[in-house]
Amino acid sequence: MFQENVLLKHHSNYKIGGLAKYFFEAKSIEEIIKAVEKARLIKTPFFILGGGTNILFNDEGFDGLIIKIKNSRLRQGFGGQAKIKIIKVDAGVFLERLVEESADTGLSGLEWAAGIPGTLGGAIRGNAGAFGGEIKDVIKEVISLDISGLRSKIIKRNNQDCKFNYRSSIFKSNGAKEIIIEASLLLRKGNRKSIETAIKQNINYRKERQPMEYPSLGSTFKNIDAGKIAKKQHKSFELIIKNDPFPVIPAAYLISKAGLNGVSCGGAMISPKHPNFIVNVLNATASDVKNLIALVKKEVYKKFRIDLEEEIEIL
Ligand SMILES: Cc1cc2nc3c(=O)[nH]c(=O)nc-3n(C[C@H](O)[C@H](O)[C@H](O)COP(=O)(O)OP(=O)(O)OC[C@H]3O[C@@H](n4cnc5c(N)ncnc54)[C@H](O)[C@@H]3O)c2cc1C
Repeated sequence: MFQENVLLKHHSNYKIGGLAKYFFEAKSIEEIIKAVEKARLIKTPFFILGGGTNILFNDEGFDGLIIKIKNSRLRQGFGGQAKIKIIKVDAGVFLERLVEESADTGLSGLEWAAGIPGTLGGAIRGNAGAFGGEIKDVIKEVISLDISGLRSKIIKRNNQDCKFNYRSSIFKSNGAKEIIIEASLLLRKGNRKSIETAIKQNINYRKERQPMEYPSLGSTFKNIDAGKIAKKQHKSFELIIKNDPFPVIPAAYLISKAGLNGVSCGGAMISPKHPNFIVNVLNATASDVKNLIALVKKEVYKKFRIDLEEEIEIL
């Protein structure tokens, strides 16, 4: 059902955002196509939404159609004894469910993803990652819908063709030309107990170090590729470089050293617990968050001559 004037704050993990003129939850590929066609018919822009865990909606809302991807099938491969299992997962499936189901069936390969919210589609587009793992490590094939032409067409890509990169993929670098529909994942048979232990450890690590008590979008900025830092400057960062998924200087470290821990604007605050998180402490607006983003970029540049780049998206 197409809805009108839907408050986007209810569809964002940030709990921020004004009204969307139109809103549609698409539960199948047919419904996704129908929604795109409808937007074209009424000549309105549209935006694809997954779990809303990496997107900051503006206070003015969106003067168009939000298509929320809600297909949710998780098929094949569970059970059985083969060492490698292929599972087919719809883009609208939440990573949390995927991690849980793979642990329940003793499949290894997604432990790093424990605690990352959002859908598989969002994770593939941004090549989500943590604790040294990335979604690209388990992707065999991605099926997407190319909506750039007059008629939508299905595209199948293998892992290499997805051009995965740090927090990026062809689905991101191509602009919004394609909608991810489903993917096949390669998981290994593993020891159920060790899988569950790894998942627990990763979730506990997050609870200890991330401000889970407030709405957020996770890390606001990408970490800095340590290989791209000038040799002279590199030395001063040696002790804090971490390998995730390659040697990086954590943005949180730079923000903290710029003296910004706990700085707030309106209802938004740079978390003292994890300074790369800008949290919604009390009815923050998108402007509050954007002001803090601008401040962080300015101060980090002033101190280190390093340009931070947003990991989150703003619509
Ligand atoms: C507490 C917290 C912790 C986090 N920790 C991590 C972390 O450790 N690592 C990490 O990488 N991220 C992390 N994130 C960020 C976020 O969870 C991921 O980026 C997630 O993969 C986004 O998925 P989503 O479905 O919510 O995408 P959305 O926020 O809904 O959308 C993000 C982008 O993906 C596009 N998109 C979504 N679905 C599709 C689709 N089917 N087809 C095409 N485009 C699509 C949207 O148009 C948008 O451009 C964290 C977020 C939070 C709130």
